[in-house]
Amino acid sequence: MSKVLVIGAGGVGSVAVHKMAMCKEVFSHITLASRRIHKCEAVAASVKQRTGVTIGTAELDADDVSATVALIRAVQPALVVNLALPYQDLAIMDACLEAGVNYLDTANYEPRDEAKFEYSWQWAYQDRFKDAGLMALLGCGFDPGVTSVFTTYTHKHLLDRIDTLDILDCNGGDHGHPFATNFNPEINIREETAPSRHWENGQWIEGPALAQKQTFDFDQVGPRNMYLMYHEELESLAKFYPEIKRIRFWMTFGDAYLKHLEVLQNVGMTRIDPVMFEGREIIPLQFLKALLPEPSSLGPTTRGKTNIGTIATGEKDGQQKTFYVNNVCDHEAAYAETGSQAVSYTTGVPAMIGAALMLTGQWKGEGVFNMEQLDPDPFMDMLNRHGLPWQVKELPSPLAF
Ligand code: NDP
Repeated sequence: MSKVLVIGAGGVGSVAVHKMAMCKEVFSHITLASRRIHKCEAVAASVKQRTGVTIGTAELDADDVSATVALIRAVQPALVVNLALPYQDLAIMDACLEAGVNYLDTANYEPRDEAKFEYSWQWAYQDRFKDAGLMALLGCGFDPGVTSVFTTYTHKHLLDRIDTLDILDCNGGDHGHPFATNFNPEINIREETAPSRHWENGQWIEGPALAQKQTFDFDQVGPRNMYLMYHEELESLAKFYPEIKRIRFWMTFGDAYLKHLEVLQNVGMTRIDPVMFEGREIIPLQFLKALLPEPSSLGPTTRGKTNIGTIATGEKDGQQKTFYVNNVCDHEAAYAETGSQAVSYTTGVPAMIGAALMLTGQWKGEGVFNMEQLDPDPFMDMLNRHGLPWQVKELPSPLAF
């Protein structure tokens, strides 16, 4: 029985809090804090209506470390779950250190003025968390998160050695809008417009954004075009699995989405540096975010499924083998259960599971941890029991792409 403080009342925070309320045996008291109190109150009302559980709410600007420390001291949680934006990661980690509490997030720290997608800033907290006897768990969403656990599971149970790893992220959902992003637009568009990068024979290979494409037939979705991209779990996978010769990340995009993105990029709307407009500075990407639908509003209209997984090739008992581990998640079912579509659901459920494993002591340690460093078995078991069942399929070797 443990108290948890969740920061961030967006799509992911809402799912995580709903799922925590459905897991009363672990989460005895839940408090949700966010920049705007009315968002917390709306989530609290939905949690009450769907589960009967009353959660606490608080208004918090998590960029303000002393305000977060004061809230942590008032709530006295055993764990802070950071589901605000990557910009807040370091401020919330500082607050956790000052207040003496464990930490979990789903995305690596990002400076506002530079798209980096790297763990260096958070890995630099290793000694401070270790010395304080606290645990910080990084990247506990789906990707990063579950994809790293699928890899650890493959390494533990399916292959003696992994040679290549491909992460395939397919969103086969349709929300009915000409253009909208499925999670925070600013972070989402930064990710898609960054140069592609993959790991091969001990080095990063860079290329233009969204230039390499493959068609793949996704179970329960159908054939989709997927594009080579950089994604943050590549960095931790390359660090913790130096044996893997090639690691790539692929994400599906429809032609209409890419056309909108290309136009927005060409006219400068995806820029993250300030420009002067009518006598004041604005960041074009932040202005674009204000025009686009909020990801949390897409739930009622989204139909279709997501299919995210890992394909690993390697050796088992001296034979070449290829294994595909994946989850299929239905947007409408996710919405019926939690009031959010599958992109938020597939991130919020793993955050709840990571939190539960930390609170029950099944995952414990001192210092800063990535998902690759922890035992995959209890996490894989909870995925099956809490709404994200997975399958393992053997594919023909060698891999076709
Ligand atoms: P949203 O934009 O929907 O929600 C973010 C929430 O954080 C909003 O409620 C926002 O408040 C709040 N917030 C922003 N700034 C602050 C602040 N300074 N203090 C307190 N609260 C703040 O994003 P998502 O829910 O889609 O994403 C949440 C996180 O999950 C992001 O870090 C995202 O990168 C990550 N993510 C990870 C994935 C994975 O698989 N690992 C996949 C998808 C997302 P307000 O409503 O007032 O703006």
